[in-house]
Amino acid sequence: MKKLIKNARLFDGRNFEYKDHSQIVIEGNLVREITQNPVSEENFDEVINAGGRVVVPGLVDSHVHLGGQQKDQRWDETVVHGVAHAERMLLNGFTTVRDAGGIVYGIKAGIDEGRIKGPRVFPSHGYISQTCGHGDKRESRAHVRLGDGQYTSPELRAGGTVIADGYDEVLRAAREQLFLGASQIKIMAGGGMSSKYDPIQTIQYTEQEMRAAVEAASDYGTYVMAHLYTKESMHRAARAGIRSFEHGQMLDEELAKIVKDKDIFLCVCPQPKADEEYERSLGHAPKKRKPGAQEILDNEDLQTELIVKYDLNLVFGTDYVEFIADSNPNAQIRDLAVYEKRFGSQRGLFSATGAANDLIKLTTYQNPYPEGKIGVLEEGSFADLLIVEGDPLNKLSVLSDRANLKLIMKDAEVYKNTL
Ligand SMILES: [Zn+2]
Repeated sequence: MKKLIKNARLFDGRNFEYKDHSQIVIEGNLVREITQNPVSEENFDEVINAGGRVVVPGLVDSHVHLGGQQKDQRWDETVVHGVAHAERMLLNGFTTVRDAGGIVYGIKAGIDEGRIKGPRVFPSHGYISQTCGHGDKRESRAHVRLGDGQYTSPELRAGGTVIADGYDEVLRAAREQLFLGASQIKIMAGGGMSSKYDPIQTIQYTEQEMRAAVEAASDYGTYVMAHLYTKESMHRAARAGIRSFEHGQMLDEELAKIVKDKDIFLCVCPQPKADEEYERSLGHAPKKRKPGAQEILDNEDLQTELIVKYDLNLVFGTDYVEFIADSNPNAQIRDLAVYEKRFGSQRGLFSATGAANDLIKLTTYQNPYPEGKIGVLEEGSFADLLIVEGDPLNKLSVLSDRANLKLIMKDAEVYKNTL
């Protein structure tokens, strides 16, 4: 199959200038050529006229949870919810996501086999946590470890989260995720907002335990992403060789320099504060947070300032989970407007396109989609793209309105067309 997209105003994912009058030649599922010269339409099975509208690479959300289990859910319910969640993400314009942990194997397989609709998935599979860490999902202190070493929590039993303590256990846990095809390893390196028994200020995993995950990952050509908020967690993670910081709200000047030096990616996930503002806009009282949470959210302005000042590797991530989508279906695309506000439209759009391409390079032979480039539109890219109404390079928030997504293409397949 040969497809042509003609008369496009192209943002290629890297250059902050549109290329007007672009013709995008698609062969199979790949972009074969992009030219500003006229192309004869005769040899194509399908011609799509962008009508001078902006074409951008399919967006990449580098922090979602497709199969994040909720309290009292069985694992099979989680999967069914995840299927709906996957389609929602694709229709939000995200043709690729990095899954930051959960029950995702079957959802990813179903998408890749064409049984269900959804983005490409870079899976972490189970996130790895210490006992009493952010991933210790036992809902009650009455939930004990059973004789077989397993826990009674359904998420732990289903492998959406894995508890591992000590160098050897973390090494094994990381290798188990690689066995499932993890494209990167996710660990919990500090306290979290939503978990029950770990104060948010806690540092999780010793440097040696972190190194176990890094060694397992790097021997398989890939890297570790870590959930963390606090300064000490970030210092430790940087020393251990972790390449992607998730959240990282307590960033300060010293850490910003380390992040720059070590070429660490930063995925800020602005969702907690943005949700709070959303709740307030509906006249609801914002939900009560764990002690210490406010201090973390209050440091976001400094985090923003330092990311811009040191031009850090910012990637777009939303921590979009299904239960949030239930109360606010637009949370994922809303965060594009949040990125515009915090980092400006150009940096924001780059974080969801070209920067994601850079991040994906870290997965080398664990990349589940090695045949094409993701996050950029050039020769050899996957035919993953959006035709949009508006000017996202100068106003990223146009992408926060689904109505502005006129066409969504993934793998040369059209999933929405209102042109
Ligand atoms: Zn997350």
